[in-house]
Amino acid sequence: MIGKNIVASAYKDSHETPLQAINPATGLSLEGDFFKANQTDVEDALVAATAAFETFRNIHKDKKAAFLNAIADEISAIAEVLVPRASAESGLPIARLQGELGRTTGQLKLFANLVAEGSWVDAVIDTAMPERQPLPRPDIRKMLVPIGPVVVFGASNFPLAFSVAGGDTASALASGCPVIVKAHPAHYGTSALVGAAIIKAIEKTGMPKGLFSLLFDDGYAIGSALVLHPLTKAVTFTGSYNGGMALVKLAQERKEPIPLFAEMGSINPIVLLPEAINTQAEELAKKYAASITLGAGQFCTNPGLMLAISSPELENFKQVLAAEISKVPSATMLTPGIANNYIKLSTAVHAEDGVELLSASTVKNAELQNQSEAKVAQVSAAKFIENPKLHEEIFGPYSLLVVANNVAELEQVIAVLNGQLTVTIMAAADEIRQYQSLIHLLTNKTGRIILNGVPTGVEVCAAMQHGGPFPATNDSRFTSVGSSAIHRFVRPLAYQDWQQEFLPEELKDSNPLEIFRMVNQQLTK
Ligand code: NAP
Repeated sequence: MIGKNIVASAYKDSHETPLQAINPATGLSLEGDFFKANQTDVEDALVAATAAFETFRNIHKDKKAAFLNAIADEISAIAEVLVPRASAESGLPIARLQGELGRTTGQLKLFANLVAEGSWVDAVIDTAMPERQPLPRPDIRKMLVPIGPVVVFGASNFPLAFSVAGGDTASALASGCPVIVKAHPAHYGTSALVGAAIIKAIEKTGMPKGLFSLLFDDGYAIGSALVLHPLTKAVTFTGSYNGGMALVKLAQERKEPIPLFAEMGSINPIVLLPEAINTQAEELAKKYAASITLGAGQFCTNPGLMLAISSPELENFKQVLAAEISKVPSATMLTPGIANNYIKLSTAVHAEDGVELLSASTVKNAELQNQSEAKVAQVSAAKFIENPKLHEEIFGPYSLLVVANNVAELEQVIAVLNGQLTVTIMAAADEIRQYQSLIHLLTNKTGRIILNGVPTGVEVCAAMQHGGPFPATNDSRFTSVGSSAIHRFVRPLAYQDWQQEFLPEELKDSNPLEIFRMVNQQLTK
């Protein structure tokens, strides 16, 4: 099963020297050959996806839901092979990947339920008013429809939940769009296994061939060709700022510009208000040491910045934080590139004016390669404000504590922050009332604002917002996690003066979406 491109639902013969997956903990190659896609594969995949789109978009919602559930079942059926392979390719522990597998199948089932329930299409019905003066009103009915083939870039840091059958693929398929995945080069084998599971689900549920394709590459050629292909109608990406923005530019410069949803860097500030520090310094220090180092810090919601006002209690917080960080064992990072980048950036930042290392991990495993050393540093608010280099993401188990002299200075720090996926406030109940203007400033900077918690751990649910102001994402109106993620792949279509028999089911008078009609009629009276 591992070893061939899966293009337009069929295995293809090899084109050139195979690619091999690397175990980042040992530096050794793993079993399996994977073949680089070429321009013909890109063409085949998009042509097949476009043909599949015409069939798939008209398939009954219950069948689409059954297909999404079948993908979840096929993935669960290979868990015993898939989880160890994902662990070998990513360096992530088995337990974490078991959890991620549950999240992946859970996401697929969530979208299956959403599709079966059906109201996500936001049907709105404005019935005709033939007697209206001075002009009669036509019958207008609107709903959301899928836009066409979607290209998904698998992310390195979630080999299952943000990859081949992750949230992007699940939400795109749920919307009625075919998907072409560009596998992340950090986990070829995991990608191939999940890709084969999707193909099985397509076959078992009678879905059109070409609904899903998986292409491999170890460079930018195939990803760029997929974004530029005229039949591609939308793209999703999770990764670096540079990668994301390069692809945004490509998508915008096409003859037909298309939406590209890029989730990029975020440092997820934690604001430690004085009373919270005064009463819980030790507890908070332990909580954040754990959050900063979870999964070797390789989360887009990793708390890379802590903001506080100088006080004796803050000194206590720093001491406990430093002690906790020094005890965290170094861990293998996802790829040699990510590990090297982490070492480079976390070392370079200490050469910046005023930055002082507070603590670094002292527990190392000499046998493992590509390890990260957890680190926390501190800097004054004044130095932070004047140095934009300190506002950038350092992907890994790293966090910078910024110490302000007073609330006004803390607000100045917040004012210079970039857009974020999350912001967390640690506050006593009275402080929420007392610091309203500061909290208001923070809401302008983020997609999710957390009270007295940690940003790591993103719930997959209807209300989740995983997307924030630039540069956290390039379009803060959308989320890549939770059921609203489906809205990235649809557009509104209005039908004017159509007879009942020719309308989509969702827009017929017999559709039980009374609420939309009622609300609408009240509004137009
Ligand atoms: P990446 O370098 O951004 O790559 C992600 C995917 O996009 C890969 O498949 C890559 O292809 C492709 N790609 C990147 N630049 C491209 C371009 N200009 N044109 C076409 N395709 C392009 O991310 P990564 O490899 O996962 O990790 C690198 C860094 O990204 C990390 O050190 C971290 O800073 C950041 N990152 C952030 C998050 C987050 O959630 N914020 C998550 C993961 C990574 P190839 O690899 O085949 O070249």
